[in-house]
Amino acid sequence: MARCTHLDQVTLDTLPEAVDGCEDCLRTGDEWMHLRICLTCGHVGCCDDSPNRHATAHRTAADHVLIRSLEPGENWSYCFVDEVGMILPRPGGETQIPPSPMLSR
Ligand SMILES: [Zn+2]
Ligand SMILES: [Zn+2]
Ligand SMILES: [Zn+2]
Repeated sequence: MARCTHLDQVTLDTLPEAVDGCEDCLRTGDEWMHLRICLTCGHVGCCDDSPNRHATAHRTAADHVLIRSLEPGENWSYCFVDEVGMILPRPGGETQIPPSPMLSR
């Protein structure tokens, strides 16, 4: 089984209490499906089922390779380089997110 060798890039200690949605979609008025947070800088982006795939775009633009799901009840993280999912002890906390604009239309 593949193991992630990038865990030293997890610098986010605590999840934000609440976010308004995908940062980049909010800026452009676009819609997202699911939210992911960058474990290095806290950037909130949208998943690959979203039209703009901002979480993946952030990985490319910023070279930050670890994300965590912000969906209610989901606590998995994922490494883009090793292509492996995992449950990490950090960051702690829980984030309130609004429902997907695509699903609540
Ligand atoms: Zn990794
Ligand atoms: Zn987005
Ligand atoms: Zn980042």
